[in-house]
Amino acid sequence: MLGDDDTTARRLRLLKAEFTQHQQRGPDPTGRTATRAEAPAPIDLGVLDYMRAAVTEVEQHTRAADWSRPAGPVPDDASRVYEWAREHTAHLGKQHQQAREALIYRQGLEHAIAAGDTTVIRKHPCPQCGCYGLYWRPETGKAGCVNHYCTDDDGVSHSWTLAHLAQQHIASKSALSARAT
Ligand SMILES: [Zn+2]
Repeated sequence: MLGDDDTTARRLRLLKAEFTQHQQRGPDPTGRTATRAEAPAPIDLGVLDYMRAAVTEVEQHTRAADWSRPAGPVPDDASRVYEWAREHTAHLGKQHQQAREALIYRQGLEHAIAAGDTTVIRKHPCPQCGCYGLYWRPETGKAGCVNHYCTDDDGVSHSWTLAHLAQQHIASKSALSARAT
């Protein structure tokens, strides 16, 4: 079983809740809280765009996987798109299953980071030196290695995209489960 339970879906729900709460927090300085409180909390538009982009990516990946079986509309609840993707690609080969899980796992990392939790990076060994010293570098959008000896030919510290870490994570998980059976 390659599925990473529903961690990615849970993180997406958390992210949405987080940004909805930010909007609600604090009294209205103008004192017009009474009328405002009745309206549903507006969600940060940037987060809405972010979530829409995440869903679109999964949707396109799923539809492109098998044109012979139209998958139908994506669920209204964004966090259920992962379930939807797995359902519609369960009949495909191992390679596709892995690619799909790597995409879902990568989005899980992105959701956590978008919600401010960059510690998710630390659970991954550096693909080059194997140490657990990766840290998030927001300026590059990549994970950097803390090991001073882990550099390229120009002496620049190795850094990794989330997609790379996700692929490595899913591949090692798949190798483990293959060995266990
Ligand atoms: Zn390293």
